[in-house]
Amino acid sequence: MPRPIEAVIHPDALSHNLGRARALSGDARIWAVVKANAYGHGIENCFEAQRLVADGFACLDLAEAERLRGLGWRGPILLLEGVFEPRDLELCSRLHLWHVIHHEAQIEWLAAHKVLWPQRVFLKLNSGMNRLGFRPLAFRAAWQRLAALPQVEDVSLMTHFSDADALRFGRDGVAHQLAVFEAACADLPGERSLANSAATLRHAGRPLGGGLNVGADWVRAGVMGYGGVPDYPEHDATHWDLRPAMSLRSQVLAVQELHPGDSVGYGSAFVAEAPMRVGIVACGYADGYPRHAPTGTPVLVAGQRSRTLGRVSMDLLTVDLTGLPQAGVGTEVTLWGCSAVTGAVLGIDEVAHAADTIGYELMCALAARVPVRVD
Ligand code: PLP
Repeated sequence: MPRPIEAVIHPDALSHNLGRARALSGDARIWAVVKANAYGHGIENCFEAQRLVADGFACLDLAEAERLRGLGWRGPILLLEGVFEPRDLELCSRLHLWHVIHHEAQIEWLAAHKVLWPQRVFLKLNSGMNRLGFRPLAFRAAWQRLAALPQVEDVSLMTHFSDADALRFGRDGVAHQLAVFEAACADLPGERSLANSAATLRHAGRPLGGGLNVGADWVRAGVMGYGGVPDYPEHDATHWDLRPAMSLRSQVLAVQELHPGDSVGYGSAFVAEAPMRVGIVACGYADGYPRHAPTGTPVLVAGQRSRTLGRVSMDLLTVDLTGLPQAGVGTEVTLWGCSAVTGAVLGIDEVAHAADTIGYELMCALAARVPVRVD
């Protein structure tokens, strides 16, 4: 018998969620962002469902791009950080990839490279995130250099929002970055890509110059495609009509009857005040469940809401079975996603929030030892 834990991928949810991005984005085309192995879901597990909606796939590196081409995808693939060294351009060209240019060296590599055919690049503006991209004053010169290269077929323009998920310091961060983008790009030709999930959900209709809105020509839908919510707890998945693309399910391995004063697990971090039944579940931090999830982190036991108790250990965690007399060894425990028993949903963002992290991190941290099954 295999250990009773699995991550189940829900293709219908993947298509539905990307459909939400499309519905919100007017005429924009949709990049399904599949970096970090499709946010932990597995590129191969998601591909067929995502290709039903996506116009292109945005990934991190050549290895991910090769996997997409290996799956038969002939449409656009964007390398979100471009190439990492000059020799990458060879494969980039052979795979017909589009790539981001965010620093000077990448232009030099391209200028020195004998490409097989002219390439499409996305020139990235640092409009305030101060991570990757040319600062506004250097942007135009970079554009002119690129546009003049015989190796370049087309220059598109992009930026990335740091604060599309909330007001920060009482300020609308999108407005500031939008103004910077518009000033830097106003009279430059080329397609535009700005929006991540938060901008798509919260700002897609906002006007941008030249008859475009924030959705512009290409939306980069990452976490929302997997049913994650970038602005939790202000909004949850129901608010945005997003569905979990992954359910992490396990089972109760053992039941303990606690007496008042009995503790549970390492550090005796939970002590029973009254007699209670607890379930020991086959899931721990070595499966990717957050070790810092405190007592009270929500779980579903046979589809009913309950909570974790005490510390999460490497392979096990403990859940409260109070009020669940039917629950025993073999009962399903859903750590996030939807219960196979009742269909009830526990959002990954709610679990992440309880553990003081974000849904993105939990998705990406799913451990390799957890078997993944496509529904
Ligand atoms: N675009 C870029 C450049 C990114 O780095 C990311 C993710 O970090 C995304 C789009 C997708 O972001 P999200 O998952 O918030 O939609």
